[in-house]
Amino acid sequence: MHQRAKAINRSTIAWSNSQARQRVDDLRRRLAAFDANPSGQDGYCGYCSCISSDRIGGAAITTRPCGLCDHQMTFSNTSTDALCQDCGQANGLCRRCGADVELKDRRKPYPFEPSVP
Ligand SMILES: [Zn+2]
Ligand SMILES: [Zn+2]
Repeated sequence: MHQRAKAINRSTIAWSNSQARQRVDDLRRRLAAFDANPSGQDGYCGYCSCISSDRIGGAAITTRPCGLCDHQMTFSNTSTDALCQDCGQANGLCRRCGADVELKDRRKPYPFEPSVP
């Protein structure tokens, strides 16, 4: 792959400056939202609900089986969840990325794990 040279002049520099500053501000806002609500919401972990920006995927109807129950999920774009709503909720896991919703490393088995006899 080959990319064209980026034109550099006074106005592209000023534009890039403001874009970069805006991204930093945006990131600060997201981190503040995460700090205020580290356990996330709506079945998503704090990272996925506050910080991650990969909610917008390619515009193609996408299907993906749930990582636990194999239920076939359908999404309106290529940004998909790892788990169905039921499995996420039942196990306290983030639907999007599969992390613990509170991002804690737990010792106790999760409901989906077979209990040790
Ligand atoms: Zn499931
Ligand atoms: Zn997550």
